[in-house]
Amino acid sequence: MKHVVQRTCIACRRARPKKAMIRVVRAPDGSIRVDETGKANGRGAYLCRSRQCWHQAIGGTQPAQKCRLASALKAVPTESEWIALQEYARQLPEVDNTRSGILS
Ligand SMILES: [Zn+2]
Repeated sequence: MKHVVQRTCIACRRARPKKAMIRVVRAPDGSIRVDETGKANGRGAYLCRSRQCWHQAIGGTQPAQKCRLASALKAVPTESEWIALQEYARQLPEVDNTRSGILS
């Protein structure tokens, strides 16, 4: 049996297979961005492919420095990084539809 690496969403705290999650990385240069490959260097935080989780993690109205993503990455996104994360969240499905964890 193949071992499936699981990661925990910083918003809903559910563990899912790593490839079902989206990684956000704080790169060694301090920049914060979505890591589509899941392999970028730096401290990473994982989120479900769900707008709900993203909004919970990056906040909508609260100051960026108080969001869960900031505490997970131990760094506060700049305004432009935060806007980019909001933009990314906007194209995600409202809820994660890969709940079963089975991806083809
Ligand atoms: Zn989640």
